[in-house]
Amino acid sequence: MRDRREELAAALAEVERRVEDACAAAGRSRSEITLIAVTKTYPASDVRLLAELGVSNVGENRDQEAAAKAAECAGLGLTWHFIGQLQTNKVRSVVSYARMIHSVDRARLVDALSREAVRAGREVDCLIQVGLGEGAGRGGVAPEEAPALAGLLAKAEGLRLRGVMAVAPLGEDPGAAFARLRAVAERIREEHPAADVISAGMSGDIPQAVMNGATHLRVGTALLGRRKPFVR
Ligand SMILES: *Cc1c(COP(=O)(O)O)cnc(C)c1O
Repeated sequence: MRDRREELAAALAEVERRVEDACAAAGRSRSEITLIAVTKTYPASDVRLLAELGVSNVGENRDQEAAAKAAECAGLGLTWHFIGQLQTNKVRSVVSYARMIHSVDRARLVDALSREAVRAGREVDCLIQVGLGEGAGRGGVAPEEAPALAGLLAKAEGLRLRGVMAVAPLGEDPGAAFARLRAVAERIREEHPAADVISAGMSGDIPQAVMNGATHLRVGTALLGRRKPFVR
């Protein structure tokens, strides 16, 4: 465990250095950016070590795994982000531990989330996931449909529209993709000034995300190591 702690400490310092470099290159302040440690496939013991090292935001993409880890790590004062495709039958569970849901991509999900948030007496921060790639594959609503979905979310009881999220499509310059995300974010913010979150940037594209206005980075591999390909 000692070794793992040192490994995570070194990786965190390296990621922190990359984030600071990206901020310097973009002329931004580090304080504008929230680093989310994406801990999927890694055990709760790693989450605990990261918390001890100062990480306060954690991201997960599968409810079953996230719910168990959130329960195991209760009391550490962590903020949990749900970043994966969300089925409506998992909404009740996700609403019970997630402070921010990054992956709202359809009206039916808005309805389900609103119902459960009201039922739980909670206000849940939500992001519209925007699909930046050609066709299907990595999820999200089409950029031209994002403002309408944002309008629906903004009106939904129990939910707070906080902004947008995207994953850069494979095979394209992430900077170009994130520039399109930023344009969508700005359109939405014209009508919803409080929707100032841009969740973009993973281990491989931190500088491009920061250059294009990202406020939240979701970093897994660079912090925890490569995930085993057969575990999802
Ligand atoms: C797994 C995942 C990440 C983290 O990706 P890394 O390349 O490991 O940093 C970020 N966002 C989403 C939506 C993910 O599923």
